[in-house]
Amino acid sequence: MTTIAPNRAVTAVRQSPNYSAGRPAGAPNTITIHWWGSYGQSHDGVVNYLCRQGGNSSAHYVASSQGVTQLVSDRDRAWHAGALGNPRSIGIECRPEMSDADFAMVAKLIAAIRAEHGDLPLRGHKDWMATQCPGTWYAQLARLDQLARGQKASAASANTTALQAQTAPATKAAKLTATDRQLMLDVDGIPGGHTYARLNQVMGTGTKGSPSEAMWKKFQLFLNTVVSSKDIRNLTGAPSLDADGIAGAKTWKTFQYWSGNVKPAWMAQVGGPSKLTGATWNQWVDGVAGVKTWKMLQHCLNSSYANSGKLLSK
Ligand SMILES: [Zn+2]
Repeated sequence: MTTIAPNRAVTAVRQSPNYSAGRPAGAPNTITIHWWGSYGQSHDGVVNYLCRQGGNSSAHYVASSQGVTQLVSDRDRAWHAGALGNPRSIGIECRPEMSDADFAMVAKLIAAIRAEHGDLPLRGHKDWMATQCPGTWYAQLARLDQLARGQKASAASANTTALQAQTAPATKAAKLTATDRQLMLDVDGIPGGHTYARLNQVMGTGTKGSPSEAMWKKFQLFLNTVVSSKDIRNLTGAPSLDADGIAGAKTWKTFQYWSGNVKPAWMAQVGGPSKLTGATWNQWVDGVAGVKTWKMLQHCLNSSYANSGKLLSK
């Protein structure tokens, strides 16, 4: 581990355990912009998440109007941009709300990084791998670059606040999915806007917080791929679900059957039986999208991947 020596934009330091030591491929040559993807999530929550023990992701910096927290030394590799991006890029996590103050803080950080490492170009996370990240920030990279170049070098000391932050108690951890680092859904069985936005996102049909025909179509097509035609015929009377974009009893029955078989522990956790048998069948496979079924779907969405068109796998 390289001890973090914060640049002039940094206002707090908290070492993340999630990184690889050193830069064997060479010194930093790009700056990668990320967004943490979920509106309303706090700066500290994101910091806590990226600093969690045994995590699989991190960034060098979390930057917002609140300040700049450094988690990994520029001289070590944070886990933010995959096999292509991690070796030589410096990663900054940004706030999706993208207020003017957020924007200014990120620009200030970029200027400070460049003062130390040279004129590093900006990249978006999606330049390295298939992802929606950095969302709305992506279209603003040129403006961000321009604003960073306009920053005057100021020698404001950040050391006091950095030390204060190191001893500050941790705030409530943000909950992000382990699969694709999106905001975790509450498993409450209530299909609100966030649940629909996530279902759309996982199905690859946008991020709108309301159900759409396209979303249910993808959901039906997915179920047709994971449940055998023999089983679908037993459940619905036809060998496959019509991908008609209407989530009716046949669709829900098929989802219930599939999910109860692949995730019996979750089925029990949400109030269903612990095993799907002839005796417990009617407690679970009823074709009704009730609280238990939505809870199960929320569990599944929390372990899925954006734009995969699938549940529980990439
Ligand atoms: Zn990212």
